[in-house]
Amino acid sequence: MADIDEIRSLVVGFLPRRDPEAPSSVLGAGNDDIEVGRTWLRRAAEHGLAVPKWPVEFGGRDGDGDEADLIGSVLSEFAVPDMYPFAVGISLVAPILFDSGSEDQRRRWLRPIADGSEIWCQMFSEPDAGSDLANVASRAELDGDQWVISGQKVWTSRGPYSRWGMCLSRTDTGQVKHRGLTMFALDMQAEGVEVRPLHQMNGDTHFSEVFVDEARVGRDDILGGEGQGWGVAMAVLTHERAGLGGSGGGLDPSGGYGWLDRLGTLGRTTDPVWRDRAMRIYVRQRVAAWTATRRQAEVEMGRPDGSGGSGGKLRLVEVYKERTALMRDALGPAGALVDDTMVEFLTGPSMSIRGGTDEIQRNIIGERILGLPPEPRVDKGVSYAELRRQGMV
Ligand SMILES: Cc1cc2nc3c(=O)[nH]c(=O)nc-3n(C[C@H](O)[C@H](O)[C@H](O)COP(=O)(O)OP(=O)(O)OC[C@H]3O[C@@H](n4cnc5c(N)ncnc54)[C@H](O)[C@@H]3O)c2cc1C
Repeated sequence: MADIDEIRSLVVGFLPRRDPEAPSSVLGAGNDDIEVGRTWLRRAAEHGLAVPKWPVEFGGRDGDGDEADLIGSVLSEFAVPDMYPFAVGISLVAPILFDSGSEDQRRRWLRPIADGSEIWCQMFSEPDAGSDLANVASRAELDGDQWVISGQKVWTSRGPYSRWGMCLSRTDTGQVKHRGLTMFALDMQAEGVEVRPLHQMNGDTHFSEVFVDEARVGRDDILGGEGQGWGVAMAVLTHERAGLGGSGGGLDPSGGYGWLDRLGTLGRTTDPVWRDRAMRIYVRQRVAAWTATRRQAEVEMGRPDGSGGSGGKLRLVEVYKERTALMRDALGPAGALVDDTMVEFLTGPSMSIRGGTDEIQRNIIGERILGLPPEPRVDKGVSYAELRRQGMV
C-alpha cells in the first residue's frame, strides 16, 4: 500500500490545492465543465487514484478500503473537479458490470468510464413511470441479432453529453409489470436517438427528454441479463441513494462542513441565534454521516443493502436544503446576487425528487425496514398487457 507522501506527490502534479474560500460545485449544479473533469480522470486512471479499488487494467490500483480512504483524505486537500458528469458510469454502471457483467462488457466499458472518455446516463423515468418505475412503456423487440428499442424517456440527467444510456425497456408484456423488463446499454449516438435538453430552475440544462425511435442495440449489450431489468434498476437505485446520502459529505465535495467556515467569514458564528441554527444543521449532518458510515460497515460485513440508503438520503437532503437556506439568509438580499449560493439554494428542491422522492424513501423505510403493511396494490399478479388493456398503465 502506498503511503500518504507518495499519494500526495502524485496528486500535486495533477491538481491545484483546494481553496477553502472557493465556492463548491454540488452535483454539477451550475457546472457543465466536462473537459476539466475528463483531464483529471485521464491522469487519475494512470495511477488508479479516482477508482482505487478497481483492478489496474480498468484504471484502478487493486487497492483495499484503507488505501481508498487514504487517497480520499489526500484528495480532500485538493481542488478535485466536480465528478457529477461521470457519476453514473463510476458509481452506478461499474458496480453492475463487476457484479454481473460479462468479461467482454467489463473490457469494453470499464476503462473508458474510469478515464472519463465515455460518459453514461440513466434512462429510467418516463412520462408515466417515475415513482412507479415498473410502468416503463418503452419497448424492445428482438430482430435477428439486434434489439430494436422505441419509447420516450424523461429527466435523463447528463443526456446531452452521454455516450451510453442505461435504458430500462420492456421485453415481455405477458409478465407482471416488474418482470419482463431488461436493462440495455444504448449508444446515445445511434440512429433513432434524439436528446432534447430541458431547462432547470437553477439554470442548468443537465437533464433532457430522450426520444428513441427504433434504435438498434447489439444482442449482447444487456446489463444483468434479459428479463432481469427490474433487479438491475433496484441495484442501481440503491447505489444512487447510498451515493446521495453518502458519507456525510455526499452532497458537499468540499469535505462536508465548508459551509460552517463560510458562515464564520460572514461573522455569523459568534451570534447566538445564528449559532443555534447552524449547530442544529451541523448535528443532523454529523448524525447522517455516522448513519452512512454504519451502513457502509454493514455492507462490508455482507448484510443486505436493500433499503439502507433511503434514511441516509432523506437526512442528507434535509440537511442540504436547510444549509442552503441558511447561507441564503446569512447573505441577506445580497445573496440573490451571489451565484453559487442561489444556484445551490435553487438546486435544493430537486434533491427531494431525484433518486426517488422523499415520500418514496419513507415508503421504503416503512415497508422494508419497519415492516409496516404495504400500500394496497390493484396490479398484483396481473400481466402488463392485461393492465394496458384495462387502461391501468
Ligand atoms: C434533478 C433531477 C434529476 C433526475 N435525473 C434522472 C435521471 O438521470 N434518470 C432518470 O431516469 N430519472 C431522473 N429523474 C427523475 C426522478 O427519478 C423522478 O422525477 C422521480 O422518481 C419522481 O417521479 P415523477 O417525477 O414521475 O413523479 P411522480 O412519480 O408522478 O410523483 C409525483 C408526486 O407523488 C408522490 N408519490 C408518487 N407515488 C407515491 C406513493 N406511492 N406514495 C406516496 N407518494 C407518492 C411523489 O412523492 C411526488 O411528490 C430526475 C429528477 C430530477 C428532479
